[in-house]
Amino acid sequence: MAKSFPQIDFTGASLTIDLNALVANWRALSAHAPNSECAAVVKADAYGCGITPVSNALFAAGCRTFFVAHISEAAKIRAEHQDAIIYILNGLLPGTSRVYAAGNFRPVLGSMPELEEWRAFCHADDWTGEAALHVDTGMQRLGLSLAEAASLVQEQGALPASVTLLMSHLASADDPSNGLNAKQIGRFRELRELFPNLRGSLANSSGVFLGPDTHHDVLRPGVALYGVNPTPGHVNPMRPVVRLDATIVQVREVSEGETVGYGGAWGTSRPSRIAIISLGYADGFPRAAGSSRQQTGADAMIHGHRCPLAGRVSMDLIAIDVTDLPDGKVKRGDIASLVNDEIDLDEVASHAKTIGYEVLTRLGQRYRRVYIGG
Ligand SMILES: *Cc1c(COP(=O)(O)O)cnc(C)c1O
Repeated sequence: MAKSFPQIDFTGASLTIDLNALVANWRALSAHAPNSECAAVVKADAYGCGITPVSNALFAAGCRTFFVAHISEAAKIRAEHQDAIIYILNGLLPGTSRVYAAGNFRPVLGSMPELEEWRAFCHADDWTGEAALHVDTGMQRLGLSLAEAASLVQEQGALPASVTLLMSHLASADDPSNGLNAKQIGRFRELRELFPNLRGSLANSSGVFLGPDTHHDVLRPGVALYGVNPTPGHVNPMRPVVRLDATIVQVREVSEGETVGYGGAWGTSRPSRIAIISLGYADGFPRAAGSSRQQTGADAMIHGHRCPLAGRVSMDLIAIDVTDLPDGKVKRGDIASLVNDEIDLDEVASHAKTIGYEVLTRLGQRYRRVYIGG
C-alpha cells in the first residue's frame, strides 16, 4: 500500500484500492497451484472494489477467466474484453439463454431445468458457446445432485458437448479441520471420473490452501484477491488491497463522567479528547463495530497510533478516543484510517461479529474511490 495518505475531497472518506497488490495476490494464488489456471471471482462489483478497474488490472496481468454472479456483471467485463471467458455462477435465469449467447457468457448450469433449457436453446439456435455444469457435493445450495449427475452419463446426449467445465463449491474450506472438506473432495474426484472429458474446478480462496486435492484445472478465488485472509487463524498470506480513510471534522474535550454518542453506551472515565470523523454506518462501516462500556470496539489509526472507537457508530459520524495522543497532535482535517496495512478487514469484522467478506462487500458507494497502480 502507498505509505502517504491519499488526498481527501468533500466526500469525507475515501476508499483506496491498490491494484498492484490485487495483481500480486492473483499471481501468488496462481503460483500456489502452478498446474491450474487461476481465474478471478469478481461478483458483487469485485467484492466492492470496482469490477471494471479490477478486471482490467487482472486481464492486463494475464487472467483470462472471470466468474460473476449476474448477467449485468458479465456485461461490464465483456464491454472491455472481447476475449475474456466469463462464467455466470447464479446459472441460467428462465428465458435468458439469448442474452448469454449475445454476450458469449457461459452459464454455470446448476439444476436439471437449467440444463434442459440450455440444451433446448443451443439446439434451436445452433449455439455452441461453452457452459459449466455445477454439481453439489455437500453445500446444498446450487448444483445438480450426485444422482442427477450420474443420470446424465447413462443417457446419450443428455449433456451437451458444449458443457466443458465441471464445477462444485466447498462449504467449509476456511476450516481445514472440518470433515466436510474430505467428503466434498472425495465426491468431486468421483464426479471427475464420471465426466473424464470435462475440466474441473473446485477451489475458492480458502480451497486453494487446502492442498493439491482441491486444485483441479481452474481455481476460483474471490476474497483472497482483495486481501482478506483465506487461512483464518494463520498469518494472512495475501497483501492488503483496500484502505479506508476518513477526515476528522472536529476534536472536542470531554470531562470525566460524560457519555459519548447514541444511547450513552460508552462513557469517559477520565478527562478525554474525542475526534469525530466523517464516516458512519451509511458508508458501509459496520455499526456493530462500535464500543460500549461492556465491549471494546474497532480501532482507528491516527498519526500512526491505534485509537479506540468511542461509543456507537452513527449514520455519518464516528467518535474516536484520542486522549492518549499528545496535546495538540490531532487536529480538525487530519485523517483517521479504519482499514489499512495494520487494521485489516478481518479485524474490523471480528469486532462486528461478522466476516471480512461482509465488511469488504458493504464498503459503500459513498466514498471517493482512489485506485493505485493497475
Ligand atoms: C463466491 C464464490 C467463489 C469465490 O469464493 P471466495 O471464498 O471469495 O474465494 C467461488 N465459487 C463460487 C461458486 C462462489 O459462489
